[in-house]
Amino acid sequence: MRRGRRPVASRFATGFCAVLLTLAGLSAAAAQSRAPAPSALPVATDIRVAGDEKQTRLVMDVTATIGVRAFTLADPYRVVIDIPQTVFQLPPKAGETGRGLIKAYRYGLVMAGGSRIVIDVAKPVRIEKAAVLDARGGEPARLVVDLAATDREAFMRHLALDRTAMRGSVAIPSIARPQEKRSGDLRPLIVIDPGHGGPDTGTKAGGGDILEKNVVLDFALTLRDQLEKSGRYRVVMTRTDDTFIPLAERVKFARQRQAELFISVHADALPKSEGDVQGATIYTLSDTASDAEAAKLAEDENRSDVIAGIDLAKEPDDVADILLDLAHRETKTFSHAFARLLVGEMRNTVRLHKKPLKSAGFVVLKAPDVPSVLIELGYMTNRQDLKLLTSEGWRAKAAGTMVQAVEQFFRTRLAGAEASAGRR
Ligand code: ZN
Repeated sequence: MRRGRRPVASRFATGFCAVLLTLAGLSAAAAQSRAPAPSALPVATDIRVAGDEKQTRLVMDVTATIGVRAFTLADPYRVVIDIPQTVFQLPPKAGETGRGLIKAYRYGLVMAGGSRIVIDVAKPVRIEKAAVLDARGGEPARLVVDLAATDREAFMRHLALDRTAMRGSVAIPSIARPQEKRSGDLRPLIVIDPGHGGPDTGTKAGGGDILEKNVVLDFALTLRDQLEKSGRYRVVMTRTDDTFIPLAERVKFARQRQAELFISVHADALPKSEGDVQGATIYTLSDTASDAEAAKLAEDENRSDVIAGIDLAKEPDDVADILLDLAHRETKTFSHAFARLLVGEMRNTVRLHKKPLKSAGFVVLKAPDVPSVLIELGYMTNRQDLKLLTSEGWRAKAAGTMVQAVEQFFRTRLAGAEASAGRR
């Protein structure tokens, strides 16, 4: 059975915006449309975890008394802490390991004006306290979260109550705005999708200093600039900064704009035990993965929503319908054609994986009507690849070859459309 993603279900408390207004000095409009100047934001300066398997406390020092809202998510067990947009100036390895009930945690921007801490917990927990204490006696303001062990039954009961209470509360705003007017501009629209963002860093390398989310954003910006320079395409990106975007939103973003090509950009990792693999790989969507590595990779990439604290609880797959399946067949043909063009172009200039064309069940490639590929630029776990991935020269060269493939793709499509119009 296909397991789809449903629209974003994460919610912010109704009081959340009010908190933003009073404490961060933002207007509602500003909170919706753009990030405030960094200097106006509260800063998290330290974070620590104490306790044991029965009770665990997380404390984070902040430069302002901010609002906080906490809730739990099941399967896997997570605790999500939503706070106003905060600058995290925490030690680089903060959150990689936990203690007591906390296995690990991560943090980052999930929307303009809103940051989030996502805690992976070892077992079902109850949130005993989630509050921000005022600065006092030379001590900074502190976010304090107390967790206590509980059983699954109690955890699930609480979750159900939470869901009812939160119905109608504020959601992470959808990035997919109403359809853009084409205003006579008939150039094809290309969506570039830099993977990960915010609390979801993607793969890490260089002792934790080099993050996939940044590497792929840099590359995506280069690719966008080169495509725009050709003057032949309109180009939009699912994110241009370090904000988390749920997987389903990325797909929706491309569909609502009637994009004619969707390119998701990632950078892979493999444990040393798997050998020193290198080179770029192009992925298309398939129900059955082309090999075990592709299956594992899709599984990792599809975990993005779990990592960023999105509620995965059941809703039907909006892509599972016969008419869409028909559209899907044509889209698949185009996706494969573009993937082959990419490999053909990149073969001469960019290091490719020994088997550069693969397929697997990536959620982000599931638009039934937008030809979509996911490119893994290389392996961040491979020294040589990492050097290339982080070099401006390589980025420009690799993006250049991708532009060539894009040009061929649209030339062929256009020729095909004219030929079939001529037959009519
Ligand atoms: Zn990735």
